[in-house]
Amino acid sequence: MLEKLVSYPTVSSESNLELIAFVQDYLAANGIEAHRVDSDCGAKANLYATIGPSEPGGVILSGHTDVVPVEGQDWHTDPFVLTEKEGLLYGRGTCDMKAFSAIALALVPEMKALKRPIHLALSYDEEIGCLGAPRLIDTIKSELPPTRAVIVGEPTSMRVVTGHKSILHFDTHVTGHEAHSSQQQRGVSAVMVAGRLINWLGERQRANAEAASPECAFEPPYSTLHCGVVHGGTAHNITARECRFVTDIRTLPGEDPGEYLAEYEAYVREVVEPEMQAICPDTQVAIEVYANVPGFDVPEDTDAVQLAKQLSGQNAIEVVPYAAESGQFQQAGFSVAMCGPGSIDQAHQPDEFISIAQLEEGTNFMRRLIELQSS
Ligand SMILES: [Zn+2]
Repeated sequence: MLEKLVSYPTVSSESNLELIAFVQDYLAANGIEAHRVDSDCGAKANLYATIGPSEPGGVILSGHTDVVPVEGQDWHTDPFVLTEKEGLLYGRGTCDMKAFSAIALALVPEMKALKRPIHLALSYDEEIGCLGAPRLIDTIKSELPPTRAVIVGEPTSMRVVTGHKSILHFDTHVTGHEAHSSQQQRGVSAVMVAGRLINWLGERQRANAEAASPECAFEPPYSTLHCGVVHGGTAHNITARECRFVTDIRTLPGEDPGEYLAEYEAYVREVVEPEMQAICPDTQVAIEVYANVPGFDVPEDTDAVQLAKQLSGQNAIEVVPYAAESGQFQQAGFSVAMCGPGSIDQAHQPDEFISIAQLEEGTNFMRRLIELQSS
């Protein structure tokens, strides 16, 4: 099953419909009706299905179907052909996160005697900001009977994860005014303005780092503000007309990323833009939000966490710095835990792999869940 799922190159920029059609046909062959929740453009789809009776007390297994690109990465095998070497299975998406979905699908034939259901929820566009999940979650919430728990199968090495940071991803587009670089009183360099705003991000992060609580379980134990890409300017002696840069803010659960954005916008509108426009009124700063993924934070005694501990045989819980769809499920009122096979250390890397040992652990987890839901 993993070989099959990996063979679909479902990079987030591409359609995932062939994979979805395969899963739909496979489930139909097992007598299970699956439902699609399409993207606006129709090129992508989420899928959900109920295995077993349509009763309360079900467990939702959540996975994303998309994977990150392989361009520019030095792969030693074909990323879309599952390749085994010394107990490791190589391929894009093996660990993040087709293995979890593959295990669930492969065990569908063993789910014949369920008394309470197991639901599958497969999303698109997780890797570019969890864009597909909200409509899937909305639909599931209105269509499925009340559920007991959601297990988000992101790679956690089968450890039980109860928290992740949020992600706020936005673009800043500075429009300056061109002049000779010696005539600073007549021009507004978009690059220099961008530099000032990027510096604001750095200073804000430094303040967070200084105020970090030693008790915080996250690594690093503070919210981060980062600029990952900058484009701007045309020559050393022209004040740049355009500069764009992208920002990624990851807050601790409990901190609202929107408050950082509001602070940033206030700095732009009240301090920076007026200074730009005093020199040239046609200058401006535009901010566009691309993704806003809520953080995830649940207490240890919630049902989903207890269930994940029981099924994985783990006693400890932990939090992780990478974000997933868990916060979105939590925000919608579900009881959620994160637990899936594979290590995040191999995710998004060239030569991504999952060990057969992790696949087996994931399979044991799933078989215990089937047993529990059948008793
Ligand atoms: Zn993932």
